Amino acid sequence: MRESAQLVSKTLGLLATEIKPGATGLHLDRLAEEFIRDNGGIPGFKGLYGFPNTLCLSLNEMVVHGIPSDRPFAEGDIVSVDCGVVLNGFYGDHAYTFEVGEVSEDTRKLLRVTKESLYIGIDKMRQGNRVNDIGNAIQKHAESHGYGVVRELVGHGLGRELHEEPQVPNYGKRGTGKLLQDGLVLAIEPMINRGTHRVVQLKDGWSIVTGDRKPSAHFEHDVALVDGRPVVLSTFDYIYEAMGLPKNDPLFA
Ligand code: MG
Ligand code: MG
Repeated sequence: MRESAQLVSKTLGLLATEIKPGATGLHLDRLAEEFIRDNGGIPGFKGLYGFPNTLCLSLNEMVVHGIPSDRPFAEGDIVSVDCGVVLNGFYGDHAYTFEVGEVSEDTRKLLRVTKESLYIGIDKMRQGNRVNDIGNAIQKHAESHGYGVVRELVGHGLGRELHEEPQVPNYGKRGTGKLLQDGLVLAIEPMINRGTHRVVQLKDGWSIVTGDRKPSAHFEHDVALVDGRPVVLSTFDYIYEAMGLPKNDPLFA
């Protein structure tokens, strides 16, 4: 499963330098599909539940499940790229919200806090904890900044299927839900809105946008519970490397 997660991580790393004003989602989608197939994988989302593309690509007020289009990105946009692969029969599922050129200070903060909430949630994936301990920690951190935590979409177990039990909400009550045990792999994926937590689905049947059309961010890691502790199977390091940024995420290895 680490190999599957790493293939998605490398795919997002490849896309990182392509995300700039004027680029299009369809261009990224083609690059991603080619890279995944060249590396022996199969795009994990394409055809699943009828989704048409390799990437879910969600701009600005779009939370998740956006369909790549030929609309060019503009300076100041944010683009959430969610990608799945199947490799050796196992899924990887990993997401990052990218800045297009210079974004506003408010938006940068939303991205920072959402990424922080991801790692704060991962830290709760420990032997003896319960699944809602993860969401409780994510919710506390996001709401302490006045942000909305999406309720309708959740993280999930990951393995031979993309969406396995248990569901991993990004909110919840401490000490409730399934007991976490060694061998479990979860896709932990906070979806955090700058305004209301409410979302609506667009008429295309896929795109989920915020109720107030304020921006939304999404970061996702694949995490295994090994010897009672979280081990992050995916990595943002390929993205940081491509963008010349320092690798400063907390280590859970
Ligand atoms: Mg995903
Ligand atoms: Mg997922």
